[in-house]
This record gives sequence, C-alpha cells and structure tokens, in this order.
Amino acid sequence: MKSFDCIGMPVDRELKSTPTRLYPSMLFTKTQRGETTEVLIETFIRKQLRLKAHTVTRVEETDECMMVHMDRLGRRLLRCGVCRQRCREVHSIRKEREWRDLSMRKLPLKLRYRPRRVACPRCGVRVEDFPWAEPWARVTTALANAVATLARELSWQGTAREYGLNWKSVATIVKRAVEYGLRNRARPPVHVIGIDEVSRRKGQVYLTVVYDLERRRLLWVGEDRTEEAVQKFFVQEMGRRRCRTLQVVCMDMWAPYVKLVREHAPNAQILFDRFHIVKHLNEAVDEVRRHLWRQLSFQERANFKGTRWLLLKNPWNLKPDQKERLSTLVRWNTPLVRAWYLKEAFQLFWTYQQPRRAEQHLRKWMNSAMRSRLEPFKRFVHLLRSHLDGILPWIRIRLSNGAVEGMNNKIKSISHRSFGFRSAKNFIAAIYHCCARLPLPAER
Ligand SMILES: [Zn+2]
Repeated sequence: MKSFDCIGMPVDRELKSTPTRLYPSMLFTKTQRGETTEVLIETFIRKQLRLKAHTVTRVEETDECMMVHMDRLGRRLLRCGVCRQRCREVHSIRKEREWRDLSMRKLPLKLRYRPRRVACPRCGVRVEDFPWAEPWARVTTALANAVATLARELSWQGTAREYGLNWKSVATIVKRAVEYGLRNRARPPVHVIGIDEVSRRKGQVYLTVVYDLERRRLLWVGEDRTEEAVQKFFVQEMGRRRCRTLQVVCMDMWAPYVKLVREHAPNAQILFDRFHIVKHLNEAVDEVRRHLWRQLSFQERANFKGTRWLLLKNPWNLKPDQKERLSTLVRWNTPLVRAWYLKEAFQLFWTYQQPRRAEQHLRKWMNSAMRSRLEPFKRFVHLLRSHLDGILPWIRIRLSNGAVEGMNNKIKSISHRSFGFRSAKNFIAAIYHCCARLPLPAER
C-alpha cells in the first residue's frame, strides 16, 4: 500500500470544509460476523463498484466533487471492450478519462482513470472493458440507470435538474437505455396486436404505435402512418416467422394498415377498433350540427342564440312570440334529433351476443341511416359497408384498443410534459422508455 498524508483522522474533523483534502479516512462497517471494523473510504468505493482488476488509489475532495482516482490492480488481466474476453497483453495507456457516478450525499462523485488498450486475440487492439460503465458512456452504469429510472416519471428537463446534469446528457442516457432495452428485451410470440396512431404537435405529425393487447405492452413506435412507415413493423420488428403467430389485429379503418396486414399476416383476423368506429359516428353527428348552423342566415343565428332556455320553460308559461320561437327552434333541430337517435341506435350493436342478431341489427340500421337524408350518415354507412368483414367479428372477439387506453394517455402526457421534443426521434425514445417496459443494463 502507499503512504498517505493523514491516516485515521477522526470523521467529525473531516467535515470542516477545506478546499482539497486527501483521504483515506475511516468508515465503520459491520462484517458478516457482526463485528464492527474500520474500512478505508477507498475500500468502500472499490467494493461498491465491485472492482476486480482495478483499484482505487486515492480519494480527493474538492468544493465541487469527490474525485476517485483509479488504477489497474497489479497485473490482473483486463477484458476486451468489444468481446469482453480476458487479454494478456496491454498495448498502451491512453489519456485520463472521467466518469460521473452517483453522488456521495451532496457531493458528486467522479471517477478518474487512464484506460488501457488491450491486444485482443479476436478483435485486435481495443480499449479495455470498464466494469463500471458502458463503452462510450461518460457516466457510470449505476448513475445512468438511476437517471433512466427517474426519466420514466419526470420530464427529461426535470430529471436533469434532479441529478445536476444537462438536458442533453439525460437525452443521451435515455436513448442509450432504449437501444439497450430494445436489443435485450424478451420477445415472446405475439397473438393480438393493436395498431393506433398518436399525433405530435397538435395533429401535424403522426406516429404509429403498435401494442401487444394481450400483455398490454408497447411493441413498436414508428414515424408517420404511411404504408412504408408501418411496413417496418412487419418486416424489421416482427419478421416473417413471428408474423405467423398473429391471430387478431385491431386497428382503424385505414387502407394502408389493412393492406399491410393482408400482405404480411394473411392468417390474422382484422378487427376494426370499436373506438375508432364510434369516433367516425360522432364526427357524422357533429357534421350534421355544423351543417345546420351554416344554413342559418345571420339574422336567424342571432335569434337562435340564447333560445335554449325556451326548451326548459313550461309551455303554458310561454308568450305567443316565445311559442313561435320555440317551434322554429324545434323545426331547425329535427335533423339533429334524427342524427342523435341514429347514433344511439347504432351503439346497441356492441351489446349483442349472437353474431347473426348483431348482423341483422347492423343491416337494419344501415338501411334506416341511408333513408335519413343526412349526408354524413350516408357516408358513414358506405364506410361500414366496405369494412363489414372487420366489424362483425367484434361479437366473437370483443377486443379493442381501449385495453391500452391508459398507455395512450401516457403517451399524450409525455408529449405535453416535454415540450422540448423537437425531433420525432427523441419523442419515440421517450415513448419506448415509458411504455415498453424495457430492461435496463445490469450493473456488473
Ligand atoms: Zn475482443
């Protein structure tokens, strides 16, 4: 061992602030047998980092941080940074590098070490493997994991503030964690998936998300919602073999999706998502309302405004002119009332148990909607007619993307809390990080 300036100084005297101080000082720990022993802070850190081929030479305290100086331990064999094989020969010593580690109380801990380049029999001359950090990381794996865990709950900005890092470092840590997680996550066979879209920047940019509806887990996120973009899911993420296990694909009535499923998973049953169908229906009602409003002249609108109270008043208390206004109001509203009833009648479809009855109901409903003289509803019926083979299976399958509604809301909240996501890449990384339950790198 080396000699030190001040060995065994009492701990309480150590707490007085001086600009620089050299350790070791004593820490007290209990051994496995329950005896209290003194431990050097160097030993403590070495054990915490689980160093085997490296050692801590000294610990230096400055105003900003605790600097841990490290060196190779004797002639212990180092591992190759690429294949992790033990290497006999050290090729050269590189210049000093620093890694941020978890703080000691309030003081940030920094590791300082001169990396060796080893001659690996398989890979040639490479930088050694650091047991405390990933190859190119500037923080230790312990800190990276702590940051990544917090970033699942907070915005990247908030996480950065919490750990005294900048936004960019957090972004790098999260993106690395996601890369690692995607490479190392378990890929059990998938049977039921839901394809959905989320918008970024108020509907200007779309992302496609694919969920495993059985396990309620995010599988894939892709930029855009075009055929090309979503094809990547089937080709790159799933591959031909994994596509074969797909049984049900739940999605919106969106032609590119249908085409892709028919092409890549021909055995899967397409099921159009209940919530998307209802959304189209609600839009039809809304369009009827807006159309009525547009038809009214400026004068009529002025009369119309603030007349809803007429509906609430007892009819016998109405004055003659009020009675007239009420009857106009009702007359104007008849198409809207019809639209409203149609909508309510359609919703019964979801409650049927027998496929044949459900189909009967739907066909009857479509006929009456076609006779309703409401253009938006006629268009909705056309939409239904051309997608019936993906709507009727609902009675058998009873699945919808509503199962992952919570996840969808989570994605929305990610986009709200992080107004800093100017690039889709960062947003996608954040979605994977929060929703896909990816594994984090193990601390060695
Ligand atoms: Zn190697």
